This record gives sequence, C-alpha cells and structure tokens, in this order.
Amino acid sequence: MNKPSEQRSLNRAQNSFRLSELSPEHITEIYDSFHIEDDRTGLSSETLQRAIADNLYYIQGKFPEIATLYDYYMAVAYTVRDRLLHRWINTVKTYREQDVKVVCYLSAEYLPGPHLENNLVNLGIYDQVQQAVESSGLDLRSILAQEEEPGLGNGGLGRLAACYMDSLATLEIPAIGYGIRYEYGIFDQEIREGWQVEITDKWLRLGNPWEIPRPENAVEVKFGGYTEPYTDDQGDYRVRWIPHQVVNGIPYDTPISGYRVNTTSTMRLWKAEAPESFDFQAFNVGDYYGAVDAKIISENLTKVLYPNDEPIQGKQLRLEQQYFFVSCSLQNLLKIHLLRGDPIETFHEKFVIQLNDTHPAIGVAELMRLLVDEYLLHWQKAWDITQQAFAYTNHTLLPEALETWPLNLFGSLLPRHLEIIYEINQRFLDQVRLKYLGNPDKLARLSLIEEGGSKRIRMAHLACVGSHAINGVAALHTELLKEGVLKDFYDLWPHKFTNITNGVTPRRWMVLINPRLTQLITREIGETWITQLEDFKRLESLAEDPAFRQEWRRVKRAVKQDLADYIQAHQGLTLNPDSIFDIQAKRIHEYKRQHLNVLHIITLYNRIKHNPRLAVPPRTFIFGGKAAPGYQMAKLIIKLITSVGEVVNHDPDICDLIKVVFLPDFNVTNSQRIYPAADLSEQISTAGKEASGTGNMKFSMNGALTIGTLDGANIEIREAVEADNFFLFGHTSEDIVDLKAQGYVPKTFYNTNPALKEAIDLIASGYFSHGNRALFQPLVDQLLQADPYCLLADYQSYIDCQDQVGQAFQDQDTWTKTAILNVARIGRFSSDRAIREYCREIWWVNPVSIHLEEYQQAKASLAGEHCLDADACPF
Ligand SMILES: *Cc1c(COP(=O)(O)O)cnc(C)c1O
Repeated sequence: MNKPSEQRSLNRAQNSFRLSELSPEHITEIYDSFHIEDDRTGLSSETLQRAIADNLYYIQGKFPEIATLYDYYMAVAYTVRDRLLHRWINTVKTYREQDVKVVCYLSAEYLPGPHLENNLVNLGIYDQVQQAVESSGLDLRSILAQEEEPGLGNGGLGRLAACYMDSLATLEIPAIGYGIRYEYGIFDQEIREGWQVEITDKWLRLGNPWEIPRPENAVEVKFGGYTEPYTDDQGDYRVRWIPHQVVNGIPYDTPISGYRVNTTSTMRLWKAEAPESFDFQAFNVGDYYGAVDAKIISENLTKVLYPNDEPIQGKQLRLEQQYFFVSCSLQNLLKIHLLRGDPIETFHEKFVIQLNDTHPAIGVAELMRLLVDEYLLHWQKAWDITQQAFAYTNHTLLPEALETWPLNLFGSLLPRHLEIIYEINQRFLDQVRLKYLGNPDKLARLSLIEEGGSKRIRMAHLACVGSHAINGVAALHTELLKEGVLKDFYDLWPHKFTNITNGVTPRRWMVLINPRLTQLITREIGETWITQLEDFKRLESLAEDPAFRQEWRRVKRAVKQDLADYIQAHQGLTLNPDSIFDIQAKRIHEYKRQHLNVLHIITLYNRIKHNPRLAVPPRTFIFGGKAAPGYQMAKLIIKLITSVGEVVNHDPDICDLIKVVFLPDFNVTNSQRIYPAADLSEQISTAGKEASGTGNMKFSMNGALTIGTLDGANIEIREAVEADNFFLFGHTSEDIVDLKAQGYVPKTFYNTNPALKEAIDLIASGYFSHGNRALFQPLVDQLLQADPYCLLADYQSYIDCQDQVGQAFQDQDTWTKTAILNVARIGRFSSDRAIREYCREIWWVNPVSIHLEEYQQAKASLAGEHCLDADACPF
C-alpha cells in the first residue's frame, strides 16, 4: 500500500480530468473521433512531401510565396518529429507495460548538435526527405543549415552525454537523460580585432520544434528556510523541511532516436518557473509587482549555462541549478516507479542513476531526503537503495576542478541536505574508524567535509560514498584517480573502481559528417560497422591496395576542399588543399597547450625567414575553440594565434607555405566541418592533465594521424593503431611529476635552446603585436617563470616530432596507408562499446526491443487495458 505522502503526491492531480476513470468503450470512442490514418507517419517521399506542405500551412501558418527557409526547416522538422513520435510513444508504452530496468543519466550539460540531420540518418529517411524537398524546388542542405544547435554544454563532457544518449537508443537500452533547459546556452564566439567576443546564445528565439513541454508534469523544488523535528504516528523521529521558496520544474522532452531501431528515448530537460500559487498569494494581498518579481527570480534559475570548463566555486545560482534539476529528476523517477505499481523499496532494482561528474552529486542527499522524509523509510533501508541506485563518473584530475561548496552557503540553501550529509558522514567515518584505528589523518582526508579556515562540502566524496561504482574515463585517468585524488577511497573500496574509456558515436561523427568516406568504406566492407565499429578491422587489408589508397586520397582532398571553401566564404582566406591540414580544435586552456602549437608555427616561420629557399611542406594550421569569459590567459592565447596569423599569412617571404586560421565559434555544427578535413590531429596536452579527450577519437575516425602526448585516451588510441602509426612526443605523466619534484626551471630550457629562445623572444619583442611588448607579456612571463604545463620541457620533442610529420607527409602513399590503418583500428572508440561496458559492469541492464504498433492496433490494445493516466509519465 502507498504511504500517506505517496498517496498525496499521486492525488496531486495536475489535471482535473483523468482518462483512467473513463470506460474502455469511451476510450475507443475518443480514438475513433481522432480519425488518425495509418499513413499519417509514412516514410515514402510522396507522403513526406505532403506532410511538409501540411506543416508549412498548419504549423507555420505560411504559404510558399511568403515562407522563409526557416519556415521550411520548421515544416521538415515537424514532419520528422511526427515520425519520431510514433516510435517514441511505442517506446514509452513498451517500458510502461514491461518490467524493465532503466538507465537515468544525470548531466548538467548536453551538447547534442543539430537534431534534424541526425534523425534523418537514424530513421533512414535522408534520401526520401531530400527527394521530397527537391520536388518542391528546395535544397535540403540549406534547410538543414537553418537549425540552431542546442549549446547546452561547454565541450567534451556535454558532448559525451549526447553520444551516450545516441548509443543507448541504438543499443535499445531503456534510458532517460535528465538535464537543464538553459534559456541561453554556451555563448557564440566572434573574433573582433583578434580577440574573442562573447555573444549571448538565444537558441530558443525562433522556437524549438524538437521539444514537447509537459507542464502537467510540473514538480515542486524547495529552497532555503529551516527544518524542524517531529514524531510520526509510529513514534519515529522525523524531520520536516519548511522552505523559504518553492520553484516549479517544467519538463521539456526531446525524443532521441536510435540508429535504424524503433527505440526512441527521452532527453528530459527542466525549466524553472514560479509556482502559480505564489502569484495568487501576492495578488490577494495586492502586491502584484512583488509577485512578478518572484516570478522573475524563480525563472532566472535556468536562464544561463555557466560558460566555464571548470567548476564555478561559490556561485549560489550554480548550486541552485544543480539541486533544481536533480530534485526534479529524482521526484520524477520516484513517481514513475510508483505509477508502475512497484513498491518504493525496489527502486534500485528498476533504476540506475549515472552521475556525469559531480555536478549532480547532490542527488545522493536528495534521494535520501525523499526516501526518509517523504516516503518515510528507515535510514538504513534508504541508504541501501541510494548506494545501489547511484554510480559516479569522474571527469577530471585537475585539483582546482574538484567541486566543493562553502558549508554556510550550502546550509542556507539546503538546510535539510546539510543535516543529511552530516549523518551520512558520521556513519561513514564510524566505519572508517573501525578499519583504520587511530588514524585521524585518514579520517580528515576521507571526510565529506573539508575542515580548516572555512568548511566546505566535498561533492566528489559525497558521490563516492553514495555510489556502488566509480569510474574514470580512460585507462591512465582511472589509474591516476586510484593513486591520486581518490586514493583513500580506492584503498577503502577497490571493488567499486572501474575504467570505462570514453567513446563517440560513429553515426554523427562518421556517417553524418563524412558521407564521402562513409560511402567509400561501405562500398568495400558493407555497413555493419555503423553499429559494430570493430568491423572497421576489415579495412586493414585494403591499406595495402594502391587503388583503394588513391580513392581514399581523393576523398580526403575533396573534404579538405569543402573546409577550404567554407573558410574562403566566411573569412576570405584562400587555403591550399594540398597542404597539411594541421588542426587543433577544442576548448582553449593552458593545459591543452594551444600555445605550444603556436611556438611550433613561429619556429617554422623563423626557419623560412632565415632560409627562404628551405624546402618545407606547406601547412595550414587551423584552430578552433572558446575560452571561458573570465579566463584571461586563454583569451590571450586566442589573441596570440590570430596575431601570429596576421603576420605569417601576409608575409611575402613565406610564399603561402604557412597559413594560420582561427575558425570562430567552435560548436558541434562547426566541428562537423573540421574533424573530417584534418590530416593531423593535435592532442598535445601536458601528460596527466586530460582525463580522456574525445576529439582525438573523432579526428582518428575520419582518417587524421595524431600528434600527441601520452595523455588520456591518446595512450589507448596509440596502442590500438600501433606505435608506428602515431606521432608521439613529450614527457610522460610520471616524468612530469618527477620534473616538478626536482624543481622545474623553465628558464633552463629557454637559455639552452636557441630556436625556443628565438620564438619566445619574437613574441616578447612585440613583433606580432605592432610593437606592443606589453600585450603578450603575461603569457611570456608565465612560460619563463612558472610554466605549470611544461611547454618548455616538451618543446624540442614536439618540434622534432613535427619535423617527422613534415617528412612523412611528403610520402603521400605511406601517409594514406597509415591513415587507413588508423581508421581500421579505431573501432574500440565507439560510444557503443563504452555503453556496452557500462551496461555490463555498472548498470546491469538489458536491451528491450520496441515493436511498432500500427494505430488501429494501438487503439484496440489501449482501450482493452484501460491504463492511461492523466499524469502522462513517460512510462
Ligand atoms: C568533441 C568535442 C569537444 C571535446 O574535444 P576534446 O578535444 O576532447 O577536448 C568539445 N567541443 C565540441 C563541440 C566537440 O564536438
């Protein structure tokens, strides 16, 4: 039987009208009155063409004489969405009816990229839609270009979440991705006078055809206030939370298609709104403006994504965002569980919750609160459920990136959660004390609370204690976690630790972005690789085939030409498609060392200036990436790249042998033009700093060779493609630790390496800044005086390796063979492999296939079962 508080929440009908109270006959009548034809969502180009015309008319309210390209995009998007909904509804229905275990991915960021083309690929209707559109005299590419991508993430972490959603659906694993519907996503980047300028991303301005709001499923989230103890009717000690403020969470659902399967999962993003009752209350006392203010304050919660790659320490709004989406999501899960008729005690058997970094780690305390305070479970029972439900993925080794919250701030916003964290900590430390007799240091290191000056809550510790599994995202990263930041937890619970190396989806990162290479590969080895990327192995023998190599080269050149055309059109720069396309595209960060790349460019430049007849292979250096708005050094690195480009690109002595391009606004859309066009992928972070990287995988998959350090997944990529087919340089992570332990003095490298000295001196001299020596002074000083990321120590090794690259590129035939081998051996880096590992080792979930019911059948079975619910939960 439901507990009283459960009953209350079930009764809190958002709608006065409940379909479940209707008779089966009445439901059949309703269905009949809809008159939906089975052909409504047909996939032939004729049906599609008719549907597009209908949607233009009935949804956009336009006719061809006045319709804009954007109107056509919307009409096509709605047409495709209708096809998805058919599959989505069948998916939801199947999960409601069958007793399936569901993966809940909690992520504060998603970077899915444009939806339309991906859905065309996954549904297998690209050609039909193209034909339908062309029959109406339109061009599909220009329609696709209308879509504004949801930039709801900063970079790798958000993009990983999107790749995982794609793989989950493709592998038919029941899943929901929960997140935040930021009204403004990651800023758009413009370059003005060589500097980054941030423009707000108003991605929702023209509407979003992919989301369906579900206001009837709104959830209440409490903030602030105080707690008070009471004794329940069983005589048990209980706590009540009396909040200062309540905010409503409105779910917006986006269907996520799988590749050529019917499974269509849900990405459910929460938007904050002021609860209706707030307005009414204020209205009654006559404070209309006060009510409007409250509404604005509430809605600020999901207004903007923090544009920082690293956690923002101490920003209350950020903590509010995290708690808000986690609370909405967990309340939603509990409701789904109870609506399926399952007892609260079996929650962890039906759901597993993956924490994408510590951003949603407050979920551990929130689930405890819901189970203990609202569902009245005993602590120990609630704790067992919580620990078994959660799993935690760590994404960073940078100590400054480990998320902690000042205890005062935390306690004033979430007073009940602070108490719960104290209780979790006390019980945890009691357990630790038994294991490590008289070791106060150990207790202090493991505690969920950081003592000292001002106390802080350690979110990674909360995630570790509250989870049954902890994973890193590449082999080296997981090892370094076990030896470093999470060592004490590893000593305590070695069985909880696993490595799951990241992966990327070959649907978007190959089929969608590189149709030419997709076609060539498929012609040779069939198309099974699209869902079993290990089948790329079959390309190995073709690496020896001269005719195949020639075709491969032709494809690569055509793809490079596409990028060159794009850059010509947008930046007015002419590129040589036969030059080496040497590309570094990722967030700008000192540890990623874009400035090491610049030191190589300047070194080449100096060489040519000293010896104008020097035979060097022509190179085009392409950069892309955003800098966090408050990260001055990263912004200065962008200015350095563009300034060096200004000089080098126009120096007649260089004879166009070197070109430097900064492509503005690196987002998923732009990245899709970049990855396929690379000859050389720059993965040059300081060893031990990049957790995994996924850009490295996307470049390799598209036939670039990598120049890289032994960092993150580079190590595993190098093992997979074999050492001969990878340009390795630089110190290992162990070397770096030793170097620093011995007292690293970057000046020594500067003083003993003339080419390095010349490059740095040229920057310092104002040569690239119209004589302004002050401009790059902070960057030069940082390198000469501290160089925390050891650029100077790795400089010579990098230059030598780049010289080998230049040499190797002269032999196009061998280069192409190496590129083919890279692709043939990259199969492991599919996100499908990663998701299979999560399923087997952490989630314990199985695929559930979805059969499409035709409309008439659905009508019959729904009426028979009589199971609709006005709460209209996804399951
Ligand atoms: C893949 C991707 C990233 C991550 O790149 P790394 O090289 O792994 O840092 C960041 N941003 C976008 C848009 C991406 O597609």
